Amino acid sequence: MTRKPIIAGNWKMNNTKAQASELINELKPLVKDAECDVVICVPYTVIETAAKLTAGTNIKVGAENIAWADKGAFTGEVSAAMLKEVGAEYVVIGHSERRQYFGETDETVNKRTVQALKEGFKPIVCVGETLDERESGETEKVCKRQTEGAFAGISAADAEKTVVAYEPVWAIGTGKTATSAQAQETISYIRGVLKSLYGAETAEKIRIQYGGSMNPANAKELMAQPDIDGGLIGGASLKAPDFSAVVHFDK
Ligand code: PEP
Repeated sequence: MTRKPIIAGNWKMNNTKAQASELINELKPLVKDAECDVVICVPYTVIETAAKLTAGTNIKVGAENIAWADKGAFTGEVSAAMLKEVGAEYVVIGHSERRQYFGETDETVNKRTVQALKEGFKPIVCVGETLDERESGETEKVCKRQTEGAFAGISAADAEKTVVAYEPVWAIGTGKTATSAQAQETISYIRGVLKSLYGAETAEKIRIQYGGSMNPANAKELMAQPDIDGGLIGGASLKAPDFSAVVHFDK
């Protein structure tokens, strides 16, 4: 089974419109011949700018969250229709920063994922354990709970359109990367959870990324692991040469 690798940037709360334009214009020629899928997930306020600047290129644009409801009294939320209108195609759901600081739960992650799929987006669903959870031997338990929670009620056909990002919380923005063996072990475990939900054929089609201080120096080794199909890249996605080097991990 060959899964096309997918490298996605997660800009988090960085870049004004002017900064976004500069970064994207620098990035475009650097990644134009990429062999993997290239995505940038950006703040709501720069999605439209990013979509216009990348139109006709191989860079796809994503949001960093999506409302689970169509419209109405949900102050601060942004709906699927709004995201579609400005050109988002992908959406990050359940990032650990959303879980940690904004009360995102397995249930809300599931509701957002269901809505994203219903509205034709490609969700990038994040799962991963904290340092405490890893140290107390709960990595698999947490990843199982989060994966089963996120995919509750989702059909196999929709699951295939979803990307999972395994992001150990202790490796995000810390400069501490999981070793390629640690990442492979947990991602292979997550694929096993997907297999028990959907069967082997579907589980083998679902792309699973690693995320957590992935950068030009460690991307090649991580990407060489049999179950790692891509990366969700935070810090290194804010510098065009670094993001490009991760995109060209095989060079
Ligand atoms: C992330 O934001 O999803 C992430 C993995 O961040 P970083 O690459 O900076 O660790």
